[in-house]
Amino acid sequence: MRLSQFHLATVKEVPADAEVASHRLMLRAGMLRKLAAGIYTWTPLGLRVLRKVETVVREEMNRAGAIEMLMPSIQPRELWEETQRWEKFGGQLLKLKDRREQEYCYGPTHEEVITDFARQELKSYKQLPINFYQIQTKFRDEIRPRFGVMRAREFMMKDAYSFHLTPESLAATYGVMYGAYGRIFDRLGLRFRAVQADTGAIGGNASHEFQVLAESGEDAIAWSDGSDYAANVELAEALAPRVERPEPAAELQRVDTPARKTMDEVSTFLSVSPDQCVKTILVRGEQGLVALCVRGDHEINEVKAAKLEELPGASVLADEAEILKATGTRPGFIGPVGLPDEIPVIVDRSAAALADFVCGGNAVDTHYTGANWNRDARITRIADLRKVVDGDPSPDGEGTLHIARGIEVGHVFQLGGRYAEAMNATVLDENGKARAMLMGCYGIGVSRIVAAAIEQNHDDRGIVWPEPMAPWTVAICVIGSRNGTQAQDAAQALYDELTGHGLEVLLDDRGLRPGPMFADMELIGIPHRIVVSERGLEAGTFEYRHRRDTENRALTRAELMERLL
Ligand code: ATP
Ligand code: MG
Ligand code: MG
Ligand code: MG
Repeated sequence: MRLSQFHLATVKEVPADAEVASHRLMLRAGMLRKLAAGIYTWTPLGLRVLRKVETVVREEMNRAGAIEMLMPSIQPRELWEETQRWEKFGGQLLKLKDRREQEYCYGPTHEEVITDFARQELKSYKQLPINFYQIQTKFRDEIRPRFGVMRAREFMMKDAYSFHLTPESLAATYGVMYGAYGRIFDRLGLRFRAVQADTGAIGGNASHEFQVLAESGEDAIAWSDGSDYAANVELAEALAPRVERPEPAAELQRVDTPARKTMDEVSTFLSVSPDQCVKTILVRGEQGLVALCVRGDHEINEVKAAKLEELPGASVLADEAEILKATGTRPGFIGPVGLPDEIPVIVDRSAAALADFVCGGNAVDTHYTGANWNRDARITRIADLRKVVDGDPSPDGEGTLHIARGIEVGHVFQLGGRYAEAMNATVLDENGKARAMLMGCYGIGVSRIVAAAIEQNHDDRGIVWPEPMAPWTVAICVIGSRNGTQAQDAAQALYDELTGHGLEVLLDDRGLRPGPMFADMELIGIPHRIVVSERGLEAGTFEYRHRRDTENRALTRAELMERLL
């Protein structure tokens, strides 16, 4: 590509609300333009990168035996009524009406549509197992879209859905998808961990998240260096054996205020059934201390907020300062539901699945549990509060536990029978008997991966692409690029040769001064840069620099070819 024929538009200033490096750099490099909150245009440059990710995902899905198709984005209400998700999905569901007053949603996910497809297409167990996938635009009306395409409202997802007769078959395909996900993130050059994930309200079945390690990640994950133990932090806590840790108890007595309300009272107040409530989070908002209830299953996040001051009979659930002190946390922590001003105190029913809610505080690299609300007796138990920190022994007793922040880029899930049962999607088994199919679902945030990769790979000059994601592999910068110069001809010859070998090359023939030209190439993160100048040509060399290098190197043409081919 000749840059003079392309549309590259890097920018100097980015809006103050671009809080994380990837968001700032994607705007500065001119990969994205914001259209509305959480809605972005991918520029020609951005699209080149997005397509790279898509290609790797597609190749590995095909290799793993999944079959590509394309479902509509607009989905009729009736289908969502069959699974009762029209109401249950909550505020993330964007609802639409046509001129005949028919109701639709813009698909945030496609379980209903694929199950409807499957019940019409699949008749016999002989057609199973089968795994369909698509790469497509989704819309979720996120309560607080932020970080650019990392948590957007409109975004690109690869979603796959497999159908089975037996749990063994479901587990086998789940394993194949797990392996394919590992290959995808390996090929993209990302540092990641697969962690056991909370199965939320669905419960019981296997689920793993693929988390790209990054400081700015919204999730906290834990893994052992001595075993396969890996989980998101809340789950790690829930699975960990209770260890006696008496030291913080004295401090914590102060949290036990008489004004404390039971979870039932809070959930009644918020009109959320306690069974549906996955988490309650206390937040210090502009209007004071607020309780947020997060309800639903793995793909549902409805957040209900209410000012605790308005909760009859209680001024606050617990005093903010007390909570902060007791848990050693600080305001402003980026928490699991993505609210920048939340106080990291979590009442997590799923983590405590057996009895109480676990009230834990998250701080960077730390997670606390054990300050429990006992739902019936209204007693707060805080004596068994414990924290797991980076470097503690792993809960499974093998190796050391590491805690780091991660960005969820993929999620695999054994759904089991619930969609097929609700929608009556059956096949005939060996005995000619109709049986509801079992399902797995497997998502990858294609557009989120682009941002996650930048979080892991950047420096103060810009993006440092892992080669498989780079918009071009090589940049040729011509110094003195007026037409007809010797440098211009040499650059063109080099361009032809490298392109002929199948490399993707960008020829910067804009005629810019070296400073701004190099700055652009570094900002957009091209892995290999070659400078062609009259002076170099006289010496018989090209100036070469890898994006991660600190020095230029003078290389002969042969040396250059050896490096690049
Ligand atoms: P999150 O916990 O970040 O809200 P999720 O668990 O709701 O994600 P899934 O339903 O598991 O998301 O969807 C599959 C994948 O789609 C996620 O692993 C993530 O990579 C991506 N994804 C989900 N929501 C968004 C979003 N708002 N913007 C960009 N990518 C998203
Ligand atoms: Mg979500
Ligand atoms: Mg999630
Ligand atoms: Mg998920």
